[in-house]
Amino acid sequence: MIIRSLIARKILNSSSNYTIEIEIETTKGKFYASVPSGTSKGSAEIQEFAKDDVEYCVDAINRNMSEVMKNYVVNDLSVLNEIEKIFKKYGGNSVLAVEYAIIKAMASEMGVPEYLLINNNSVSMPNILSNVIGGGSHSFGNGPEFQEFLITCLNPDNIRQAVAINSLAYSMLQKKIKVFGRNQENALITNLSNEKSLSELSSIVSEIADKTKKRVVLGADVAANHFFKSGSYTINNRKLSKSKYMDYLIKLIDKYDIYYLEDAFSENDVKMFSELYSSVGKKCLICGDDLLATNPDKLKKALNMNYGNSAIVKPNQVGSLIKTGEFVELCKKNRIIPILSHRSQETEDSILSHLAVAYRCPFMKIGIAGSERTSKLNELFRIFK
Ligand code: PEP
Ligand code: MG
Repeated sequence: MIIRSLIARKILNSSSNYTIEIEIETTKGKFYASVPSGTSKGSAEIQEFAKDDVEYCVDAINRNMSEVMKNYVVNDLSVLNEIEKIFKKYGGNSVLAVEYAIIKAMASEMGVPEYLLINNNSVSMPNILSNVIGGGSHSFGNGPEFQEFLITCLNPDNIRQAVAINSLAYSMLQKKIKVFGRNQENALITNLSNEKSLSELSSIVSEIADKTKKRVVLGADVAANHFFKSGSYTINNRKLSKSKYMDYLIKLIDKYDIYYLEDAFSENDVKMFSELYSSVGKKCLICGDDLLATNPDKLKKALNMNYGNSAIVKPNQVGSLIKTGEFVELCKKNRIIPILSHRSQETEDSILSHLAVAYRCPFMKIGIAGSERTSKLNELFRIFK
């Protein structure tokens, strides 16, 4: 495949902030790719844009890279090594936007869907983990301290059932709880506490499980960085020591049968992750997001501490598709469940669905409403017919 031209432009993400879009032209047409941004970012994440300035990156790519990329030959995906080297100076989101656009163009060239280009051995359908109630920094400090209350159907009959169950929970919640609006991921904003949010979701989960005869479970992304300060975790305006906070979490896990718990502690508290994992790891997925930042080196260190059994995969935390692939491989080698995830400030690009399928992630974490989320669910519908 020969790239005729590559151009960059600024486009809006779902929070009306700018991000980068890359357009590549080949003999097959034009291919577009964009990359989201995070709001509650971990401190180990790579810089999204050089100088923290999307406009600078877009201008610099158009000024410096259009000649370099004109008539650029792509034979296979090993080209990503060179692409990462030459685009690195413009930040992680710029690198990924170019990589995604190349994948789309190559897939079209070869007449295969993107997921098969990335992995032509075997692929699988992810379960859908949907954020239905929002709190923490995603809801501007209103409502519960936990950032996300999630639902998923384990072993759904098919992708449509997986999505329909989450969508039903979302609409039942809107009728049941007082809703003040929707946050960046279109999760419902409430003034409920963590515990009340879990209890409302839990009764809806039981109702849906009874009705569908499926195993439907709940989870939370605690995103604990945001309420951890000077050695304590603040819940309901009360400062809890690490051990009191641990007791609080374990009680919630037991009482509400929490199946999935992400970033239960601050990103530097690996020791607490492993303590929690050793006490509840048999029944609950203990997941690292900010803790790992999709970084294989950080994962290796956390594995040495036996931190948990699952890991969030967000390519733009590490700004490299090659490192993202290594991270997923390392997860699998160590029986860690990789969970491909959206970001709070998403774009309509649906490449993440192809990555989840190609990487054989057992779960994909994605909201249930808003075109930037539904574009990915709709892409899964297309992939699985
Ligand atoms: C998350 O913390 O899992 C998340 C999706 O949020 P953000 O994109 O703001 O990091
Ligand atoms: Mg998270």
